[in-house]
Amino acid sequence: MKGLLRLGTIAGIGIFMHWTFVLLIAFIAVVNYKNGQSPVQIAWSILFILCVFVTVLLHELGHALVAKKYNINTKSITLLPIGGIARLERLPEKPTEELVVAIAGPIVNLILAAITKFFILIPQDSEELLAQLVSGINAQNFFLNFYIVNITLAVFNLIPAFPMDGGRILRALLSFKLDRNEATIIAARIGQFIAVCFILIGILSNPLLILIGFFVVFAAQIEAESVNFKNLLKGYTVGDVVMKEYQTIGAEEKIKKAIAIILNSEHKKFLVKQNDDVVGILTKKQIIKALSEKGDEEYIYNAMDRNLFYIDKSVPLEKIIDRVYEDKSTVLLVTENNRLIGILDTDILSEFVLINSIKAK
Ligand SMILES: [Zn+2]
Repeated sequence: MKGLLRLGTIAGIGIFMHWTFVLLIAFIAVVNYKNGQSPVQIAWSILFILCVFVTVLLHELGHALVAKKYNINTKSITLLPIGGIARLERLPEKPTEELVVAIAGPIVNLILAAITKFFILIPQDSEELLAQLVSGINAQNFFLNFYIVNITLAVFNLIPAFPMDGGRILRALLSFKLDRNEATIIAARIGQFIAVCFILIGILSNPLLILIGFFVVFAAQIEAESVNFKNLLKGYTVGDVVMKEYQTIGAEEKIKKAIAIILNSEHKKFLVKQNDDVVGILTKKQIIKALSEKGDEEYIYNAMDRNLFYIDKSVPLEKIIDRVYEDKSTVLLVTENNRLIGILDTDILSEFVLINSIKAK
């Protein structure tokens, strides 16, 4: 994602913030100023937003740290003005693991709410409560608002619809009885039904609900398709899609030779060889970089990617799909009995999926 600011690292997980978050804070300051609020009041509002921001981070950390217990690492946590995203290395597929990882986020909010409740007096009279909430953030109602936000975040995330945590919880519960594909489809349909209810209620009351409703309809569709995609690869191994014909190039050659081959053939990536050993990979990404920085006289051994990923042909495709699509320029070196037999990349995988989806119809 573009426009991310790195805030730091917690438990080995990179924490990022989207720059539009700054815009959100500026927006709140301007709106409050226009409403005639004093600088002190505006400062309280901004402090409150920052606290909500930390809350969202804690929610995502809840998912990430529980996932770690199941040996699932989290690559990054990104905070957007609309919420947070924890990017897990892979999704937990066992029902119990998915259930526990999904529920951990809302539980963090409930714990924060429970702790806050010790320090506040919640007005019993609903009119008084409302008056407190609409009067703007100040020292008196700061924690009351914090409490309400955490309850709201917990309830909102527990709505049983993708991409909310509740959608995953629902799928996990269904997966105890059904296979994962079926469970996903049913969970997606239930989510879409709820979304339609949101839209209808939204038309009658709050336009924001319409927006959330449409968002959920799309997200549910994407989730159902992604599981279907993996389902199409079930039963196949790396050996079924390995590309046995590939182009090699010598490490001591220059970039211009690679460019000449690209322009004269269908080959777009190379295995770089030195004394018959594969020492690197050269794709368009490295060629363009070398060309713009050093020109076409640069040697390939300076430009190539030295990270090589070997994978045995017996590995199921489902296991590698996430990592191939994570970095579209990935080239995996496929081996049989520790001997290189070919390569595998996004292009060949996409074609394989396309052909299988046509066959499946
Ligand atoms: Zn969550």
